[in-house]
Amino acid sequence: MSDLIPNAPEPIKKAPVKISKLVGVKGMNDLLPPDSYIWEKLERSLIGLAKTYGYQNIRTPILEHTGVFLRGIGEVTDIVEKEMYSFEDRLNGEQLTLRPEGTAAVVRACVENNLLYDGPRRLYYIGPMFRHERPQRGRYRQFHQFGIEALGFAGPEIDAEIILMCQRLWDDLGISGLRLEINSLGNESERLAHRQALVTYFESNISLLDEDSVRRLKLNPLRILDTKNPSMQELVELAPQLINFLGEESLAHFEQLQQILKANNIVFKINPRLVRGLDYYNLTVFEWITDQLGAQGTVAGGGRYDPLIERMGGKPAPACGWAMGIERIVELMKEQGLTDEQTTQCDVYVVHSGGKTIIPAMVGAEVLRSAGVDVMVHASPDGKVSSFKSQMKKADASGALFALIIGENELEANSFLLKDLRRSGNQSSYPMEELLDQVIDAIVSEND
Ligand code: ATP
Ligand code: MG
Repeated sequence: MSDLIPNAPEPIKKAPVKISKLVGVKGMNDLLPPDSYIWEKLERSLIGLAKTYGYQNIRTPILEHTGVFLRGIGEVTDIVEKEMYSFEDRLNGEQLTLRPEGTAAVVRACVENNLLYDGPRRLYYIGPMFRHERPQRGRYRQFHQFGIEALGFAGPEIDAEIILMCQRLWDDLGISGLRLEINSLGNESERLAHRQALVTYFESNISLLDEDSVRRLKLNPLRILDTKNPSMQELVELAPQLINFLGEESLAHFEQLQQILKANNIVFKINPRLVRGLDYYNLTVFEWITDQLGAQGTVAGGGRYDPLIERMGGKPAPACGWAMGIERIVELMKEQGLTDEQTTQCDVYVVHSGGKTIIPAMVGAEVLRSAGVDVMVHASPDGKVSSFKSQMKKADASGALFALIIGENELEANSFLLKDLRRSGNQSSYPMEELLDQVIDAIVSEND
């Protein structure tokens, strides 16, 4: 062009621009096939478990006002002190937080929607949680929890019920080697008496405390027992135990829980140092732990949180619940060889010759799907008709039992070919009006 137009500027030669790759946020993972298949199966088991015990689904938003977690979790906790994704909404100045756990939000929703108005509720949730932690195996910044909350129930039978739910889940999934630790945190006055003993004990050993613990000594000494600092383990080991401060009522609650568990053959250990990382627990607390996941061995934990509903602005009502880390369960299932691969994507793979054959292919596929058959219709990556051979390769790779073939000849004769991909390899031609009957018959006889 430039030599035709006098004085035209030389075309600018652009250096090839290297487009940088976009990447996800550290510690927040994509879940891809085939792993997503394992997750879907696990999610179905979890939803089935909830249904077995009469628990209903609740879904709260992923964002809450920061105050929900400050009040609901407690300010002197790992989550609130260091792990929350909190920010100001630039558009209206609201202080918001990506939910780091489920309970505070569920309780907020129950209070706001007056859900306990006509009696107690059994609820479950499933979804992503967010904590700004150092990413490592079993510890991510976006992770997923399944959790259950039994709201409005006071008796130890509910504490037992929610523990039995966990055991049933492990049994359903075939997971072994998990151990159950339980403890009782008593009531407020018992914790206060214990707290005084703890402060006295830690003060007389102050040189052995790490920085976090010195600060917590004033604010929340119980939390010191939850430390992960190896050099403080012995100190914590010898600290006064809350269980020795429990009164009659708390002991009776704990005792009855244990009796129900024993009667159901649940093996457990009382761990007097188990306090859990959140502020709102009382009476029963428990954790399910494995040695197979390294340092991130707690797969589920929970307990009773009777003070929380009132603290969140509701009418006082007792409650308990637990949460389970889905990533850790999946990891454990892999470790124990409990995950099978997805072998089939569909029952029938439709092969066609493009052009007009696409019409009966697409209509036939919908007819089959309406009858509950899983069907994939071949689609080419470039819009051109793929060769018969490459379509049959795809049909095979899809794991389909049958290929349904509609070529030019079939179009003309208003028929289709059905090829057995798994057993005989035979193929037969049938009139199109027999499509549904022939395919269903074939699938039924294949499954015999
Ligand atoms: P940990 O002691 O491992 O930090 P936690 O006490 O903070 O756990 P909870 O708040 O009780 O954990 O959450 C319940 C479950 O959620 C845990 O037992 C674990 O399975 C899972 N979980 C917690 N934090 C993470 C995370 N950052 N990544 C993956 N799973 C997690
Ligand atoms: Mg934690």
